Amino acid sequence: MSYAADYDAWLDEAGREYAEQEAILKDINTKVEIDRIAYTQLYPNHCPACLGWGGKAGREFRGMYGMSAAYEDTFDTCSECIDKGKCPRCGTENALNEDGEDPCPTCKWDYNAEGMPEYASW
Ligand SMILES: [Zn+2]
Ligand SMILES: [Zn+2]
Repeated sequence: MSYAADYDAWLDEAGREYAEQEAILKDINTKVEIDRIAYTQLYPNHCPACLGWGGKAGREFRGMYGMSAAYEDTFDTCSECIDKGKCPRCGTENALNEDGEDPCPTCKWDYNAEGMPEYASW
């Protein structure tokens, strides 16, 4: 086998794997799409900014400890709902205190509640 033929075979294989992964991802996201529609029907007044999550989770670099980097999990509360005391999921006004710690009296949303399902990606 020549180098070029090898390379072609590798390309073929890589292309097939990519197509398979794309198909799996498409499958997953078709289900996610259905879940998203269901979520929207169940909670039509969810916050459009955070999609019912109440904010955005992130990670912040805290410094180096010896050879290892220390990170802290952070959560930025949503300025469109939580910060205004509004429930991210059902939109009830004055549902939460300013830290968003009380569960929503209408839909029982709290920080453990999940928002709109998110699309999968590689
Ligand atoms: Zn929000
Ligand atoms: Zn609520």
